[in-house]
Amino acid sequence: MNYVFGPVSSKRLGQSLGVDLLPSKSCTWNCVYCQLGRTKEYVTERREFFPKEDILAEILDAVSSGKKIDWITFVGSGETTLYKGLDWLIAEVKKATEIPVAVITNGSLLCLPEVRKELLEADAVLPSLNAGSAELFERIDRPASGFTFEKHVEGLRLLRQEYRGKLWVEVMLIRGLNDSEAALNDMAAVLAEIRPDMIHLVLPTRPAPESMVGIPDEELVQRAVFILSAAAPVLHPAKGEMNLGSAENLLDTVAAIASRHPVQERELETALGKLFDGDAAKIREALDSLFASGRFDKVRQGEELYWIVKTA
Ligand code: SF4
Repeated sequence: MNYVFGPVSSKRLGQSLGVDLLPSKSCTWNCVYCQLGRTKEYVTERREFFPKEDILAEILDAVSSGKKIDWITFVGSGETTLYKGLDWLIAEVKKATEIPVAVITNGSLLCLPEVRKELLEADAVLPSLNAGSAELFERIDRPASGFTFEKHVEGLRLLRQEYRGKLWVEVMLIRGLNDSEAALNDMAAVLAEIRPDMIHLVLPTRPAPESMVGIPDEELVQRAVFILSAAAPVLHPAKGEMNLGSAENLLDTVAAIASRHPVQERELETALGKLFDGDAAKIREALDSLFASGRFDKVRQGEELYWIVKTA
């Protein structure tokens, strides 16, 4: 297979069949944390790098293999939307299967109307936003000339207006770069304008080209979750174990946690299990009663069910 890989297990997308549309590494950015290494030469012109019919044939082959696939995910060895013809690929995949389609993108080309149009039929779009100011954007994402912070944010804002699918903005949290209170407040303000359905907070756990890239400690991650959740529910990158043992009021405690970040139903069941000594009937009763309060919605992410607090 040249273009298709997996399915790979992904916390966010369950069993995700990856589709790589680009020669490595073709990107408009040169992020300090990029797992593909430094961008040697920026690529900024969109084109059909490989024949779309060949890519489609591989996707359909993989889909008919019988393997469990939760999402078909377009994700390039660089910036996915540099591939011209994504709309055709998405439409053809959707004609052939009901498996939802996701596009992972840095979002740098969303300021172009034709790029936003190509994404309209995707079920989820996952663009990046790593900074709430032009200065930090330049330091972290190191874009090609002309790819400004203002254009980036405008592209995300316009996509939100035009796109009806799930918009999950990915934020890479980097120690000492964008994990300060001020940087996070800036980012939360920008995210509030964009209005994503969810924020996926991710950490630079893979080898990065720049030695200054590090993972913030848990306390800073929690602070980031708390600050960014003012803009949208935040999917926590590496959950600690939920402890409900000292909860005076179970409903208020679970609602307080879920208002900061979505709570995985499995995790909630485990925490209730500890509270009720594994009594399955009591766990079920507590789950039913919490949900019956009307304070939560359930959303599916990949294979996982999450509880979020209902917005007014
Ligand atoms: S946008 Fe993605 S591929 Fe491009 S440099 Fe950044 S991390 Fe690497």
